[in-house]
Amino acid sequence: MPIRVLDATVAAQIAAGEVIERPASVVRELVENALDAGARRIAVEARGGGLREIRVQDDGCGIPADEVELAFARHATSKLSSADDLWSITTLGFRGEALPSIAAVAQVICITRAANADVGVELRIAGGEVQAIMPRGCSPGTTISVRNLFYNTPVRREFLRSDATESAAITAVVTQYALAYPEVRFSLSIDGRVTLQTSGNGDLRAATIEIYGLDVARQLLAVDAAAGEGIDYVHVSGLVSPPGLTRSSRAAIHLFVNRRAIQPRGQIAIVLEEAYHTLLMKGRHPMAILNIDVHPAAVDVNVHPTKSEVKFRNTTQVMSVLGRAVRAALLESGVRPWEEAGIPASLDTAQRRFELRRLGTSSHESAWDTPPWMSVSDEPGSASAPTGGWRDEGQSGAWQREPVTPPAAPPMVQTSKLPPLRIIGQIAQSYIVAESPDGMYLIDQHAAHERITYERLMVQRGAGVIESQELLIPQVVDLPPTAQNLLLAAADRLAEWGFVIEPFGRSLRVRAIPATLYPGDLATALLEIADHLSGRGGTTPHEWREAMLITLSCHTSVRAGQTLSFDEMRGLVMQLEQCASPRTCPHGRPTMILLTTTQIERQFGRIT
Ligand code: ADP
Ligand code: MG
Repeated sequence: MPIRVLDATVAAQIAAGEVIERPASVVRELVENALDAGARRIAVEARGGGLREIRVQDDGCGIPADEVELAFARHATSKLSSADDLWSITTLGFRGEALPSIAAVAQVICITRAANADVGVELRIAGGEVQAIMPRGCSPGTTISVRNLFYNTPVRREFLRSDATESAAITAVVTQYALAYPEVRFSLSIDGRVTLQTSGNGDLRAATIEIYGLDVARQLLAVDAAAGEGIDYVHVSGLVSPPGLTRSSRAAIHLFVNRRAIQPRGQIAIVLEEAYHTLLMKGRHPMAILNIDVHPAAVDVNVHPTKSEVKFRNTTQVMSVLGRAVRAALLESGVRPWEEAGIPASLDTAQRRFELRRLGTSSHESAWDTPPWMSVSDEPGSASAPTGGWRDEGQSGAWQREPVTPPAAPPMVQTSKLPPLRIIGQIAQSYIVAESPDGMYLIDQHAAHERITYERLMVQRGAGVIESQELLIPQVVDLPPTAQNLLLAAADRLAEWGFVIEPFGRSLRVRAIPATLYPGDLATALLEIADHLSGRGGTTPHEWREAMLITLSCHTSVRAGQTLSFDEMRGLVMQLEQCASPRTCPHGRPTMILLTTTQIERQFGRIT
């Protein structure tokens, strides 16, 4: 084919694709424009996942009638005048690309009135073509309505996810800005339902309450630290979670640079999480709402079409202030690794470290997972084991081995992949000690219960009936709007897993839960499920099913730090014996470790 210059419409559509990936991008651009216009109130409405309509109304400075058409021209901006300005950007927008890009792929109506104008103006533009422009009475400010997004680019439309997922992405954008600008009053309505509203009173914690609920917001720790001057100035401020309050994803990490939202990825996220040092469990993430203020010339925001990544002039300095700021907040709040985990301060360092590892709060556990002298045997139960010769001694906890005589109690089920186990007792309120013909077993009670629950749920799911338990008093759960909307949109799929949920004002009400779920973990479990629904970790039916099985088995009633009676321990071990893979938990960690008689004898120097 000969080389040709693309016609203007096609070129505009291609360019639009870079800026406008999905409905949430439109919301982001329009909200940024409203903020740049100095708005104190911003109302966002979305219908049909934002494809049918997105409407953003602000009370900002408005666009003068004779400039409104220009605002929709490519590279038209009131925010930059020379190339030098690019090195000190103080507005969220600067490229003059958003409005033309949106207008290239949708039907747009812009109604605006500049603060000093008597009357406003209405501009209609679709597929990049101006269709009408006329005077119009309206209050000062700007309302932009974007209808039938991607109507003329069907391929782009096909790449979009469900309406619920797109609505969730829109909610996430509005949430970001509501947190970055607590002095602006935000409201969001999705398909006619108000899902988010902040007061705009300027208090970050108040805005956080609106989004994460009072319980969470009041636990967050204030962060505030500054260093340097002039171009080296760095100020980190906001809120972070104490170590006990964690999430299974980084969805609750909100990071801003000069109040511009950036992705919680890369070095910034790593530095933030490292500030928690050993306080975070593997796979858990803190919550954070942090703004990093730097000199406008010390940051390059022009590295990504959606402006969601930035480059610092002095990254090392920024990272060090960030790390120090978060650590200081954790320390000032009196959080100490050992106290947080409920370990007495009287223990010496080595003991504390041991306790922390025992509680699983260390990220460097490997050395303790399998001490050199213990091994997890994968062999099936020893064939020579005297069936029935090992019987639980009840509360007496006697250590002697019983003579091999037929027991009065029915023999233990021997279908399992485990040797017969005689329960001796519990240590550290977390591990069951049991004796078997091949030595001594330590069974992690929580991991064991996870395995049992996982397999039970798998069977129930296979049969199509997850055992559900109706709550006597339906529980109202306050979750971030994004999570809530995803869950409500998936109510049918959740019903298959034993959850009965419904909208309740701006919250969510739970009427029934899977019978295996520990009610105290309800909110955490729902948040994790919302994460799965948002597509993290895959979206095939198989991945969804696996994610649900793991989440639900994770939140069972038997936990570490809980005293178990002999009956409970016996019940647990018997159920574990019925499992197809009793030796690992669903995450792949061992449920038990074995110290063989030979190993014990070697430790005592009886054999070499
Ligand atoms: P940019 O924000 O990069 O300047 P846009 O295409 O988003 O580019 O907007 C073009 C121009 O239109 C802006 O520079 C601004 O002057 C004007 N504008 C857009 N939205 C608004 C608004 N909500 N209020 C006032 N002016 C606006
Ligand atoms: Mg803009």
